[in-house]
Amino acid sequence: LLLVMDERNTPMRTYQVCNVMEANQNNWLRTRHISREGAQRVYIEIKFTLRDCNSLPGVPGTCKETFNMYYYESNNANLWFIKESQYVKIDTIAADESFTQVDVGDRVLKLNTEVRDISNLNKKGFYLAFQDLGACIALVSVRVFYKKCPLTVLNLAQFPDTITGGDTALVEVHGLCVNGSEEFEAPKMYCSADGGWLVPIGRCVCKPGFEENKDVCQSCRTGTYKALATDAYCSKCPPHSSSPLEQATECVCEKGFHRAEVDPRSMACTRPPSAPENPISTVNETCAMLEWSQPRDTGGRGDVTYSLHCRKCSGDGKKCAPCGSSVHFIPRQFGLSSPIVLVADLQPDSNYSFTVESQNGVSDLSSTPRGTVVINITTSQTVSVVLKERRSKDSVTLAWQGPERPNGVIVEYEVIYYEKNQREQNYTVLKTRSNMMTVEGLKPGTTYVFRVRARTDGGYGGYGGEIELETSHEGVFTWMNPVTFYSLFTQLIFCIMLYINDNQTMNLFFRHCGYIKAKQDPDEEKMQFQHVKLPGSRTYIHPHTYEDPNQAVRDFAKEIDASNIRIERVIGAGEFGEVCSGRLRVQGKREIYVAIKSLKAGYSDKQRRDFLSEASIMGQFDHPNIIRLEGVVTKCKPVMIITEFMENGSLDTFLKKHDGQFTVIQLVGMLRGIASGMKYLSDMSYVHRDLAARNILVDSNLVCKVSDFGLSRVLEDDPEAAYTTRGGKIPIRWTAPEAIAYRKFTSASDVWSYGIVMWEVISYGERPYWEMSNHDVIKAIEEGYRLPAPMDCPVVLHQLMLDCWEKGRSERPKFGQIVTILDKLIRNPGSLRELANSSVWSPSSPEFSVSTVDEWLDAIKMGQYKDNFSSAGYVSLDSILYISMGVTLAGHQKKILSSVQSLQTHGTHVQV
Ligand code: AMP
Repeated sequence: LLLVMDERNTPMRTYQVCNVMEANQNNWLRTRHISREGAQRVYIEIKFTLRDCNSLPGVPGTCKETFNMYYYESNNANLWFIKESQYVKIDTIAADESFTQVDVGDRVLKLNTEVRDISNLNKKGFYLAFQDLGACIALVSVRVFYKKCPLTVLNLAQFPDTITGGDTALVEVHGLCVNGSEEFEAPKMYCSADGGWLVPIGRCVCKPGFEENKDVCQSCRTGTYKALATDAYCSKCPPHSSSPLEQATECVCEKGFHRAEVDPRSMACTRPPSAPENPISTVNETCAMLEWSQPRDTGGRGDVTYSLHCRKCSGDGKKCAPCGSSVHFIPRQFGLSSPIVLVADLQPDSNYSFTVESQNGVSDLSSTPRGTVVINITTSQTVSVVLKERRSKDSVTLAWQGPERPNGVIVEYEVIYYEKNQREQNYTVLKTRSNMMTVEGLKPGTTYVFRVRARTDGGYGGYGGEIELETSHEGVFTWMNPVTFYSLFTQLIFCIMLYINDNQTMNLFFRHCGYIKAKQDPDEEKMQFQHVKLPGSRTYIHPHTYEDPNQAVRDFAKEIDASNIRIERVIGAGEFGEVCSGRLRVQGKREIYVAIKSLKAGYSDKQRRDFLSEASIMGQFDHPNIIRLEGVVTKCKPVMIITEFMENGSLDTFLKKHDGQFTVIQLVGMLRGIASGMKYLSDMSYVHRDLAARNILVDSNLVCKVSDFGLSRVLEDDPEAAYTTRGGKIPIRWTAPEAIAYRKFTSASDVWSYGIVMWEVISYGERPYWEMSNHDVIKAIEEGYRLPAPMDCPVVLHQLMLDCWEKGRSERPKFGQIVTILDKLIRNPGSLRELANSSVWSPSSPEFSVSTVDEWLDAIKMGQYKDNFSSAGYVSLDSILYISMGVTLAGHQKKILSSVQSLQTHGTHVQV
């Protein structure tokens, strides 16, 4: 150990050895025990100087210019001797720089710095040793350190200071939700070997009553509330409610106002409706149509319904009793949604009193009496009791008595008759002013049914009883008894027939019964199941193969007269200028909506060529899922490309705007369209290179079309594209590894991008790999990580994504196969029912064998519910197959239940 001066003349201690003149050197220097402090990988930085043998005059050939570094792992901190053979060699260390002068006084020290690491340490600590075999060395410093990922808060989860792992392994770290937040999906990240955090998964969300502000959850202020953890922010209390305290999870209703159980917390508090108004009745025989108008005050709700209470009253209206079940209401008596009802099977010549009550979703919560209106009616008298009849071989004579108290002057009588059991086919109506009629022209020996009713100036009365008469064989008159059986069905049909003639509102009832078939829009179907035209032997021709690029434009794009175009609105910005919407008039056809891309003024020749290259590429395609070129304007300025107009714009923005609003089948329909368009492109040997949701356009029928075909686009246009180490610009997150690494763009790399588009679609426009840096994405993919299934993603779809992300490009499915798979899923939507476990970061999800409830909960990271389970008596794995626990977090319930399901199917193996 020597004391020397460094460059700045400050004294420093160095360990030196310089036995270069003698052969067979083997000198050792050893450190004390160095504690590992939990780190698996430790870095050793050494600073030293090393003498160049040539600079030493007269040294023998045994002079060395290297030395060796070793370590020995041990739990014992007090070893005084370690055998040479026990050491593990770290490296042979050579110098980059060497010093040539020996003179300590005027020499300049040139320091070498070298860093080595040792990994997979597992004992308490280690000893370092340096072996000199005959060099001239001064060891100046040895610094031993390890790396940590620093404490961080992400997605409201706190990740602790974490020591990095050994080798290249990532350390999986589970985050703890910050105060006022709860797990939405178990948060975790990976601490990488170089001390950086990678691949964040899951997140915490602020609990009800709290909202996110930077990395903390703060209480909702008074007058605001947050009902669900998944709501982003506290909202103002809805009308007729307030929250006098902070942290409100809902607002309390003002006095007299209520919130029904099914009402969302964001809905205003409401009250019961006022009484129905303007009652009207129309009585026809023993049927009555009752109508009224909506209450003036619906209480702020749209769910007003009506119920009727029927009472039959004495002549003077003083004594009333409930009607009983013989009276029928059409469509029903209680819970009517329209202010109209038909009452049938009333008794003739009777007084009825109907109370119509209005109610809504909060009526049951209110103590105020219901709003009601009363409708009183009197039914007309029945006829007409048949007193006598006579019959002969071919005729029947009937005589009857008119009603005792007709409700008006009798104008005429109506006789209806038909052959017994034949009414539906053929019946005859005859009219007479007298009390008697002879019906002639009947068949001998045949039974007929007769009925008679009176018509007064107030309408028809009810029919008297049915009379069955058989014409005689010989012409003798016989008297028979009337049959007074009415079936409920017969009466109802008669009532309804009467009303159909003079009351349009009856349509309503039929509609309620579903008689009117819903109109179907054939276009709706078209959207999901377009058929792909086989492209035959057509192949895409690259515009660069043309000597004159203008010729390519002339060959593939139609020149449009600018006077036929009407520009209306700016809808976006493209690489070369604005994108507008407008209309195009085509001779002999209707005007169509188009998108117009124009080339901004001041362009270079190359820009014009690149701009028009998109048209000469697009013009070669003809497929329902590829954006259609209408034509170009090149003969006058500005130069324009006209394409069909896609009402819903680009797919990524469209999905973000409609988050969660589509059925899985609709999403699969969109994906099917994109796959079909890509199949067409790959059949034509066109490689897209920039397939991403932002380059898919959506029309008003949700049909998705592939767009963005310019030659320069991947290089300049796409804001997602980043420079790679090889110089090209590539949208990293969407691009297959072989295309990033050595620009191997093929239809198989398009399939990889298609998998990413699938993920974007199912997650409603989420950014792939979230906020991970491009560098981390490349690294994670290389290490075998793949995007996890988005929320509510069917297992089959995530599996298809994983297939698209196979490392080996020949392993990936072809677009044709993808179309077939998606078609099958659409035809058999049941296959989409099983959802992927959204917290799995695929492809390898470890399986643990579990035998107790506690082990199972630990395995699915739901250990915090052990007490809930044991106190509810669920002690064996079998018993949890029938659980209903106090686990209130929806995400946790889902996770536990899906694991229970998998227990049911897979025995005691749990996927975590
Ligand atoms: P592009 O230069 O093709 O990326 O277009 C820029 C933006 O203009 C797109 O993101 C769309 O929002 C919009 N756009 C382009 N073409 C159309 C079209 N055919 N129909 C509707 N919007 C379009």
